[in-house]
Amino acid sequence: VGRHPTPQAGPAKVSGVDRILAIGSGKGGVGKSTVSSNLAVALAREGRRVGLLDADIYGPSQPRMMGVNKRPGSPDGKTIIPLQAHGVTVMSIGLMMEEGKAVVWRGPMLMGALQQMLGQVQWGELDVLIVDLPPGTGDVQLTLCQKTELTGAVVVSTPQDVALIDARKALDMFNNLGTPVLGLIENMSTFHCPNCGHEAQIFGHGGVAAEAERIGVPLLGTLPIDLETRLAGDSGTPIAAGEGPMADAYRELARRFIA
Ligand code: ADP
Repeated sequence: VGRHPTPQAGPAKVSGVDRILAIGSGKGGVGKSTVSSNLAVALAREGRRVGLLDADIYGPSQPRMMGVNKRPGSPDGKTIIPLQAHGVTVMSIGLMMEEGKAVVWRGPMLMGALQQMLGQVQWGELDVLIVDLPPGTGDVQLTLCQKTELTGAVVVSTPQDVALIDARKALDMFNNLGTPVLGLIENMSTFHCPNCGHEAQIFGHGGVAAEAERIGVPLLGTLPIDLETRLAGDSGTPIAAGEGPMADAYRELARRFIA
């Protein structure tokens, strides 16, 4: 790639991993981790060999969402054996820390941890490795985009203006780094009241679709505000692991990545 002066400085592949997909967002709380875990599980259910790397150093939620809490083993002190959950190979920085403890790391430590996650974890043969990025446009995103050969990035946003403004910054960052943006996902797009059937646009409507059109990338999916999705995430079994309309929605989303 032209922007890299020498082959050694170019982005590296992760051994055995066919495609690496980064899931980003402009701000926290928009459902990036929820989408990452459910997409991973849905892709696994579609027969793909899937890995999920929780690179959200400051707020790792995959141990809880995927229901894994064992400390990964390291038989030789160098390689790290990832965990398995719901058909997905999982590794999270959260598994190397104590829950509830704050991370106050400087840039170089962050980079070290990220590189360990990518290079020392025995991912095995994977069709796709999904990377749940921290929100925003910081060091982790920069390092990952520059040092790793990413297939592309997906940005999750709610339709709300404040989320979209930040999502735009994330999109800019991927563009500047030369990481292809595969599309946008609108999360928490509508709320369908289970009691009265009324549909409410709690965070607004249509904003992510308009943004996707503006920058010329596909809107890959729109996912409603859904109580079961939240409960499933909190319980450690993503909604995509079961049956029902949300599991179907995630499988449909997964098929878009396979197509
Ligand atoms: P992020 O990774 O962007 O910080 P999370 O995936 O951690 O966001 O989601 C934040 C909270 O919102 C979590 O409690 C999660 O369960 C919930 N959540 C995410 N998406 C939905 C949704 N579509 N419907 C209901 N709750 C959701």
